[in-house]
Amino acid sequence: MGKALYPGSFDPVTCGHLDVIRRGTELFGDLVVAVGNNPARQALFTVEERLKLLRDVLADAKLPVEVVSFEGLVVDFARKIGARCLLRGVRNAGDFEYELSMAQMNRQLAPQVETVFVMPSLPYSFLSARLVRESGIFGAPLKGLVPDCIRAEVERRLVAARPRPSSPASPPSSKEK
Ligand code: ADP
Repeated sequence: MGKALYPGSFDPVTCGHLDVIRRGTELFGDLVVAVGNNPARQALFTVEERLKLLRDVLADAKLPVEVVSFEGLVVDFARKIGARCLLRGVRNAGDFEYELSMAQMNRQLAPQVETVFVMPSLPYSFLSARLVRESGIFGAPLKGLVPDCIRAEVERRLVAARPRPSSPASPPSSKEK
């Protein structure tokens, strides 16, 4: 089915994203994964970190997929690289509502670009990068949630990103008592 673009934040890449990418490589002759650089949305991992983690995961999985970053509208980037399809994953009804409106908006902007949805394997149907960030920051083990080859790196990075509790107010000195 030609060339497809899988855009996302990948903040960080999870086993769910990898599942979608695997399915995409089976459907499309050429798949490009694109990390969105959206200054309006605060990400925890820098774009460079997200690109590196994705490239490490795809090299380990031996998947011949190009990984790039982009700014601006997804459909503009799809047209620029000659991708006719956008690949997206749908986990649940919440995703469906969001993804449907985004796909309709993208169709409005670029009628020739088609959005194709895939469902992940059941174990990943609850998994999001947000859950990974929010639990990993407090030291939760990420086994089964992010690919093994990057797990230790992501766990360390998230714990390091944990905000330090503000130091307790110093006790009043004896003179103040
Ligand atoms: P997230 O929603 O995890 O923060 P992204 O913005 O990077 O991640 O998501 C990019 C695309 O990948 C979206 O279409 C999203 O629905 C899909 N996706 C993310 N996690 C999964 C998953 N576990 N299973 C299927 N699709 C997923």
